[in-house]
Amino acid sequence: MNETDHSKKTYNIKKKFSIRTFGCQMNVYDSDRISEIMKGSGYEPEQDVEKTDILIINTCSVREKPRNRVISVIENVRSRNAGVKIVIAGCVAQLEGEELFADGADIIAGPDWYEELPSMLSRNELTGDRISWLDQGDPRFLANSSEKFQVSAFIPIQKGCDNYCAYCVVPAARGPERSRPFEEILQEVHHVVDKGTSEIFLLGQNVNSWKGDGGFAGLISKISTIEGVKRIRFTTSHPADISPELIKAFGNNNKLMPWLHLPLQSGSDRILDAMKRKYHIDHYFNIVNNIRSIRSDIALTTDIIVGFPGETEDDFRKTFDAVSKIEYEGMFSFKYSSRPNTAAALMPDHITEEIKGKRLTELQTMFEAKLPSLLQKYCGQAILVLVEGPSLRDPLVARGRTPQNHVINFITDSDPQSLVGRIISIKVEEVRTHTLFGCAMPAF
Ligand code: SF4
Repeated sequence: MNETDHSKKTYNIKKKFSIRTFGCQMNVYDSDRISEIMKGSGYEPEQDVEKTDILIINTCSVREKPRNRVISVIENVRSRNAGVKIVIAGCVAQLEGEELFADGADIIAGPDWYEELPSMLSRNELTGDRISWLDQGDPRFLANSSEKFQVSAFIPIQKGCDNYCAYCVVPAARGPERSRPFEEILQEVHHVVDKGTSEIFLLGQNVNSWKGDGGFAGLISKISTIEGVKRIRFTTSHPADISPELIKAFGNNNKLMPWLHLPLQSGSDRILDAMKRKYHIDHYFNIVNNIRSIRSDIALTTDIIVGFPGETEDDFRKTFDAVSKIEYEGMFSFKYSSRPNTAAALMPDHITEEIKGKRLTELQTMFEAKLPSLLQKYCGQAILVLVEGPSLRDPLVARGRTPQNHVINFITDSDPQSLVGRIISIKVEEVRTHTLFGCAMPAF
């Protein structure tokens, strides 16, 4: 990169950049790091896309029709700001590659190349060349060097995946599984805790398969010994990789919050096999039963795909029954849709949109009807809540997270902003659709 390093100072001073992020927490984390890299190279953040010089679109391709979304964002922004440079980052960049030039992109950066963005922009400025950096041969974890206080800090510990579930683009988009070194993770935990963070949120496509001393359960145990860490959460877990040590940790580590996101995807063994999920429904129920026997207050959440190729009415019924029986406290559910570079895209017996839509509606209707009564169990309880700030609708009402990761809005005599980052006792008074509502306990 020597031929471009010298150009940074000349060409990027006072240029402005905006970032639009779509997708999972990993993308949110990456966008924060991209922002730090850009600021570190002299670019200024700008919220208004009509005034920005560079628009970075960091987008996920797991669940949506990503290329159409990218095209519509580019068209929209270019109609208001014709000279803007467009950078496409994230899984969509990796998967769609140079085809995105035809949609108006100037730079395409795969997930391992964000540190080079300033150099790419300088070269584009100098030569007018459109640039793509996509190969996955140099895996890096971008360290969080932000000086900003965060209530809860995402910390990636692992990226990529070797599981190759038949419907999933992650192995193609993020490359093979790579674990972040233990020391690097601990360093980042210390960094955010020093800035006042009390909740550590470990991230990865499959955190359970983190490779390092003591495995994933050992990593949690080590992080929980760090002074200042009060809460630990993680996502996402693969049911085939949950270890007995991790289940035990829910029982003996009081910093590990009682919440587990455990994607089921389907309740039918036949479909789980076709999805290449490497577990059957009995194994999943065993995990649920073991974990609930160790930590009875745990809240489980899940992901479900309906209408996978070949899914019969009987297969769907098994999913419906499993979701009903497990009594999840949160569910992300989707109609199956084909993704490029996946085995499922080539499978026979794709389900019609009409049937997929009908099944999804039936599943979601059952879930939505059940959820308020499940959440009623919290009413009357005093719960320790980590305060995030004012509620989204009313600045005089505060918002926080319960140990089970539920959002709770609550009345308090204090200014909600003054409580941010504190853990306080809230009495839950009612359930409003998916949100709990309460008030601060008098002792507080
Ligand atoms: S384990 Fe998760 S990330 Fe990996 S291939 Fe399967 S669905 Fe994708």
